[in-house]
Amino acid sequence: MSDPLGVIVLGATGSVGRQALEVIEAFPERFRLVGMSAHSRTKDMIRLIERHRPQRVCMVSKTAAAELRAQVSVSAKVQIETGPESLVDLVLADDADLVLAAIVGSAGLPPVYAAVRAGKTVALANKEALVMAGELVMAEAEKHQARILPVDSEHAALHQLLAGLRRPQIRKLVLTASGGPFFGRPRSELLGVTAQEALAHPNWKMGAKISIDSATMMNKGFEIMEARWLFDFSTEDIEVVVHPQSQVHALVETIDGAVLSQVAAPDMRGPIAYALAYPDRLDLPGRLDNVRAPDLFRESGWTFHAANGDKFPALDLCKRALTAGGGTPAALSVADEVVVEAFLADRISFPAIVELLSEVLERIRPSSIRDLRDVADAGQQGAELASALIEQRGKS
Ligand code: NAD
Ligand code: MG
Repeated sequence: MSDPLGVIVLGATGSVGRQALEVIEAFPERFRLVGMSAHSRTKDMIRLIERHRPQRVCMVSKTAAAELRAQVSVSAKVQIETGPESLVDLVLADDADLVLAAIVGSAGLPPVYAAVRAGKTVALANKEALVMAGELVMAEAEKHQARILPVDSEHAALHQLLAGLRRPQIRKLVLTASGGPFFGRPRSELLGVTAQEALAHPNWKMGAKISIDSATMMNKGFEIMEARWLFDFSTEDIEVVVHPQSQVHALVETIDGAVLSQVAAPDMRGPIAYALAYPDRLDLPGRLDNVRAPDLFRESGWTFHAANGDKFPALDLCKRALTAGGGTPAALSVADEVVVEAFLADRISFPAIVELLSEVLERIRPSSIRDLRDVADAGQQGAELASALIEQRGKS
């Protein structure tokens, strides 16, 4: 049997990161945790270090890194680095074969880019890396023969469905969306919704930003962009349907009129394990608690609803950003981070999120992308536009 795969988990304290550690721990003959990163949750990180015993840790916040150094037991023998640059050093470690990228937002892009350029396999949850710099990241992946395996459940589903199909055989890709907690409610009812209500996703337990993005449907718009780059399909051939039960994760329509689908319970450990073990499959129910295939006799009443642009302006926004190309998607993506944060801090209303992003998109100056510096500049422009518009608007 071959040696266990050396894995780095970026964003270890997050929702995807913690579930990835659970999968790694359950299959010690397959995976060895080489290193992990987090931003600032010292207590959580100490617990994870004591349990998973990585050799290297990167704690991005300097204060948190100092706390960690003072508090972690000497017996853990862990090397602690700090600062955003240390994320790049971490993924370049010689014994790291696979990088599971589960940092949220634009901070995830530099280490993903570095891992791809070093020819490492990347299990990608951090969709923002492809939203912001899809063309660049995919070109570097091809040049350095780095494999990018999607962790996002819809894309992991498509990856499975597309195996064995050739491009001319496919008519379109379909991503499903749960519709979030407010599906079907009119704008007038959404003015007063609180962050807490918006964070309560009906089917998935996720980090704050993606939960809000799911409620606004920006998440699904970003996923169209992600699919565009991962699978090299044009936006016209990528569709979204609302499926509130989150059991069917994606569909592929073939030219002969068949529709293939991937069905699984809404549990991220499935797609995480798929990406970690690819091309193998792991016996998850045998080793993890509460993993099982959907019971087709008990699960009934699956429904599918059209997701047209009038109901979900966020989808249209993302498609327009993708068509504009260059730095526009990066600007929109970082603007979304800023606007979501403002909503979580109760500075703007829920409907204002997409309305402000629409205004941002109108004002973005076109730019071209040659390297990460250009991407960061475009992101900065998006952040500044969003902040200025939030300031102007106040809470309405
Ligand atoms: P989360 O908020 O639960 O965790 C985010 C992680 O990123 C934490 O470990 C945090 O320490 C780290 N982080 C945050 N800011 C950072 C910074 N500036 N520098 C370095 N590290 C930083 O998020 P999540 O729900 O686990 O999502 C992570 C990524 O995976 C996102 O891109 C999200 O869109 C994607 N994703 C998540 C799910 C899910 O079920 N949670 C599903 C599909 C895709
Ligand atoms: Mg998804």
